[in-house]
Amino acid sequence: MLDSILEKTTAPNFRLTPAEGLELLKNAHWKDVAEAADKVRHARLPGNRVGYTAFRIVNYTNVCEVTCSFCSFCRPAKSPEAYVLSIDEIRQKTIEAKAKGADQIFLQGGVNKDIPLSYYTDVLKMLTREMGVTVRGFSPVELVRIAEFNNMPLESLLDIFKEAGLSSVPGAGAEILSDRMRALLSPRKLPAQQWCDTLAACHKKGLPGSANIVFGSVETPEEIIEHLECVRKTQDIAHGFKSFVVWTFQPQTDKFPIRHVTGEEYLKLLALSRLYLDNVPHIEVSLLGMGLELGAQGLHAGADDINSIVIEENVLKNHGLTTIEQAEKFILDAGFTPYRRDLNFSNEKTPV
Ligand code: SF4
Repeated sequence: MLDSILEKTTAPNFRLTPAEGLELLKNAHWKDVAEAADKVRHARLPGNRVGYTAFRIVNYTNVCEVTCSFCSFCRPAKSPEAYVLSIDEIRQKTIEAKAKGADQIFLQGGVNKDIPLSYYTDVLKMLTREMGVTVRGFSPVELVRIAEFNNMPLESLLDIFKEAGLSSVPGAGAEILSDRMRALLSPRKLPAQQWCDTLAACHKKGLPGSANIVFGSVETPEEIIEHLECVRKTQDIAHGFKSFVVWTFQPQTDKFPIRHVTGEEYLKLLALSRLYLDNVPHIEVSLLGMGLELGAQGLHAGADDINSIVIEENVLKNHGLTTIEQAEKFILDAGFTPYRRDLNFSNEKTPV
């Protein structure tokens, strides 16, 4: 059975069934999956190129009422450590990021009902019209709650944000798209289907982005396939996922079950993502979570992108690359030609 599934991946337009994906995940050797994924990656993306980008994450607020068990970033609104960045503070961070070569800002915050709608639109307008950067921002749960707080349909909020300058939405907050795992890790986040529906609505509005998986808790192989299937089905609707990133949970808190993910386990899921997500063009390896050595291996296991150099990261310990020169050298040393792209892969730049 394994041989016939791997053979299937050599056909031009194959699509793995959930049962086939599960069989590979549970029973295949990681090297066989990686080899098949590498072939598929090169067949779909000729040129031996690996992408990277340069954005700064701006955590505009750390107030969040969702309180996911694995999150060490969020604070209650009344905490002495709670903050909402002013427009001037965000402007200053953007100036610093541009000086380091970034041309994009990634706005990440929490669900904070005290922030007025005008704050978001003012920030978006300042970033895009005054600072000239492109902006990705707002996880599905942030978007859904901001729409609710302002008594408007999600689609109307997306129109307002897009008009103010938003051009991309991250598929953040996916973790594992299984309602059992969501009840365990983040019961106040969106259920799996609502996460999918929210991203599909963004994509239909012309706000593409990425998707990801975060694994290494008590998820089952079946739930990992359920997650990949959710992403693939959502992508079939509006094709807005430009890339898929494989992350592992980091020990930010001791309030959730976490296990060690081996390098081989990581590479196998990275490779399976390339094989299963036949409709997602790019697969990103997580240098931040897994480190540079494994990251280089990931580029030979189905991945074709290393995400961004790290200009600011409040959530994870920094294992990443911090300059454009480092990113280019890393990609060259791994045996590929680097190219710089934007958050939506719409401006693939040639090597410098
Ligand atoms: S929604 Fe995001 S910011 Fe809020 S608790 Fe969960 S991970 Fe943290």
